[in-house]
Amino acid sequence: MNHATTHASGASEAANASSQDWHAWAPDTVLETLRSRREGLAPAEAARRLTEAGPNELPAPPRVHPMLRLLDQFNNALILFLLAAAAMAALLDHWIDAAVIVGVVLVNAIVGFVQEGRAEQALDALRGMLAPNARVLRDGRRETVPVADLVPGDVVLLEAGDRVPADLRLLRARGLLVDEAILTGESVTSSKQEDAVATSAALGDRSSMAYSGTLVAAGQGSAVVVATGRHTEIGHISRLLGEVRSLATPLLRQINGFGRWFTLFSAVLAALLFLFVVFVRDHHWVDALMVVVAIAVSIVPEGLPAVITITLAIGVQRMAGRQAIVRRLPAVETLGATTVICSDKTGTLTRNEMTARRVVTDTACVMVNGAGYEPVGTLDLPEGCATLPLNARSLIETALLCNDAHLLQAPEGGWRVDGDPMEGALVALAMKAGLQPATQRAVHPRADEIPFDAQHRFMATLHDRAEGGADLLVKGAPERLLAMSRAQLDAQGTEQALDEAHWQQAIAEAAAAGERVLGFARRRLNPVPARLAFSDADELVFLGVVGFIDPPRTEAMAAVADCRSAGIAVKMITGDHAATAAAIARQLDLAVQPVVVTGQELDAASASDLRTLALNAHVFARTNPEHKLRVVRALQSEGHVVAMTGDGVNDAPSLKQANVGIAMGHKGTDAAREAAQIVLADDNFASIVAAVSEGRTVYDNIRKVIAWTLPTNGGEVLAIIAALAFGLTLPMTPTQILWINMILTITLGLVLAFEPAEPGVMQRRPRSPDAALLSPFMVWRVVLVSLLFTAGAFGIFGWATVRGFGVELARTMVVNTLCVMEIFYLFNVRYLHMRSFTWRGARGTPAVLWAVVGVVLAQMAFTYTPWMQAVFDTRAVPLLDGLVILAIGVLSMVVLEVEKALLRRWQVFPELNPTARDTGPTTLKGTAQ
Ligand code: ATP
Repeated sequence: MNHATTHASGASEAANASSQDWHAWAPDTVLETLRSRREGLAPAEAARRLTEAGPNELPAPPRVHPMLRLLDQFNNALILFLLAAAAMAALLDHWIDAAVIVGVVLVNAIVGFVQEGRAEQALDALRGMLAPNARVLRDGRRETVPVADLVPGDVVLLEAGDRVPADLRLLRARGLLVDEAILTGESVTSSKQEDAVATSAALGDRSSMAYSGTLVAAGQGSAVVVATGRHTEIGHISRLLGEVRSLATPLLRQINGFGRWFTLFSAVLAALLFLFVVFVRDHHWVDALMVVVAIAVSIVPEGLPAVITITLAIGVQRMAGRQAIVRRLPAVETLGATTVICSDKTGTLTRNEMTARRVVTDTACVMVNGAGYEPVGTLDLPEGCATLPLNARSLIETALLCNDAHLLQAPEGGWRVDGDPMEGALVALAMKAGLQPATQRAVHPRADEIPFDAQHRFMATLHDRAEGGADLLVKGAPERLLAMSRAQLDAQGTEQALDEAHWQQAIAEAAAAGERVLGFARRRLNPVPARLAFSDADELVFLGVVGFIDPPRTEAMAAVADCRSAGIAVKMITGDHAATAAAIARQLDLAVQPVVVTGQELDAASASDLRTLALNAHVFARTNPEHKLRVVRALQSEGHVVAMTGDGVNDAPSLKQANVGIAMGHKGTDAAREAAQIVLADDNFASIVAAVSEGRTVYDNIRKVIAWTLPTNGGEVLAIIAALAFGLTLPMTPTQILWINMILTITLGLVLAFEPAEPGVMQRRPRSPDAALLSPFMVWRVVLVSLLFTAGAFGIFGWATVRGFGVELARTMVVNTLCVMEIFYLFNVRYLHMRSFTWRGARGTPAVLWAVVGVVLAQMAFTYTPWMQAVFDTRAVPLLDGLVILAIGVLSMVVLEVEKALLRRWQVFPELNPTARDTGPTTLKGTAQ
């Protein structure tokens, strides 16, 4: 019976409640106290402890109460100014004006509140998608469980790049280095081991412990959970891990700053106007105040930051739908400006579904049949051989033992790998050759190991032999292993001199076919070292190589083509062999003749050569994480905006350096995910390109929101100022201005955030990262449209006067004209880069159509219902005049479309010509595509 289940009651409570000196106890004593075993808890016991101890989480920071969030909406200079004006109006018995102002304020606050809530929800959902996992042993089986499900007594497996998921007592450590800066402030990594340390050891000296939230920088290990959740050391100091994400992006800050400047400007303008109206035009100061308040309200785009936040949040949601999870909001903007994507090969451009295809030994090449991980298939024995040659057999045994992967039969059928896909393929190979993994691993237990690491590119394991001595088994990059070998094994199992030329040719042949090549070697060690050292992996006997196929992802090919048309260069950065990488690059159509640069060549290059190499190469092969960093910097120094993928612990610096760091959701380490701005849920290159397209759309939509909002405000203000300046009758009353602003903010102003991508969004060149938000074209547009609106307002006012209408009806017509022009202008703005007069353009999105219906209904009520007529002093507009208003709207649309066509024809503004870079920096140098 399971020891852990019988006596476990209270073990997790005991662990979490006590402040045991776990670090000073021997591992087995710790296990016994926690009623656990080296094979881990039984699943049922883990579930029981979870209900007892609760989830392994730190308490979430208290949420701001919704009421407070709503009140926060009023914490804004403009809103306070409006409220003061409302109070003043009420004191002076202008009840209707006071009520309308309060209405505007409330609507604004509610819209802001709802939008912020939606943006928060979008980010919360992402947080859920990024919930971390931990690898545990449960009854001896490796399992991946959510970190929140860990309980005291669980046995956790650690490897480089992992964020330590709970407070752990180490049971076994191999080259384990942990970065504990988060806890101790110490930036040097501390080396860990399983031996007990003195009871008095300070936190930073407890080398037998790994604390929740610290980061495994190198090595491997296993450990037992001693404390979870708020009982951990990090829980005691109750500092929440992970950065606190804010909604503020550089763009949003820029707009907020712009908003503040605008508020100040409008306050000064309003004060001057007030003085002018009172002293020059002799109006009563109360009336003048109302006009000034109305102007201030209409001039300030108070809804803009909220609309932009929601545009970003919608972009984030759309990206999540396309498998790109945004961790830091600014990435949404930067993605749209990306000029180079540097991508890993394995798993991102290829499927990372490895199958061993050939085994090459000194004289034979054994082809392997079968597909995927299913261990079914045969080995084509060399001619004249009844059984596998001895060296091939020895190679396959090495492949199985120097290996951490397990093949599992999936419940839904088929086989899957627990561990590294290439190692999984080796287990399948061994099974095809008739070896039983469980038996082999039991007969030849592992005594020690040097884990794989992208820096030294090999892995070694040590296995004791019954007759004395031990076998050192090594697998890794073949050139690396050849350099470490002194001999090779022949078919009869005798050592021969190393034939480098033969192996180089075998590697070249397999690599040219796009195969990933791995070398194998072994060595007898006698005496047996207590601990494996790098120096032991020398003087090896080379056994041969295995070639794996890892087909390119079909969707990656289409995505590479998309990048080409979007003016984005794609570069492959891989740890793999140059010839393999070049073959895959050709299959992906990265280039007809891919230019390949190796890590060695990068090392030898001078700073200026490095820049040329970085620009011209399509493939960087046999690179290590440092090379990635150098390539990113070189490309950035040439003005490029670089998106870079990475998955290893050592990739963190280059992910941080890149303009957009992208980590892999599946094969990435916690370290890479935390350094990245974006995590790909499916590890797929095509998802990066989809995210770029979404990024471009978000930026377009933000510009559309601005391009639509500013002239709306500008038109109203110009009309009022002109009327005041020339002593004309005001074309609208202050309450009517407030009405227009309110109704448009909650309808049309919002819909642009939901706009889908314009067709051809990926046929444009990337936008320049430092191009101003308000491009010259947009400034021109704001001025032109403001003037058009003013002309429309005065035009219809004049028409009404000619028709002999009273001023009330004339004003009603002006308000309606402005709203109709806004609607038509909205359709125009939806396509900044192309004609809007298309069926697709006219049909709009459901959001656009609902908004239009909303505005039309509101205007109908405003014009025709008696109580609104009483509040706003409006009159029913006759049908004929209604048609004239509509005609003005159509006319304004025609004018703007003709303008867009002419500007495009004359190429006045580069951004209107889709093939030209928006407003690119002139220094940007081209890169190989
Ligand atoms: P990419 O950088 O595109 O993901 P990669 O997976 O080939 O490519 P690395 O993981 O850095 O890059 O591996 C570099 C080389 O190290 C591989 O080409 C292979 O020769 C060797 N290698 C990879 N994994 C192992 C392993 N588990 N054991 C031994 N050697 C390995």
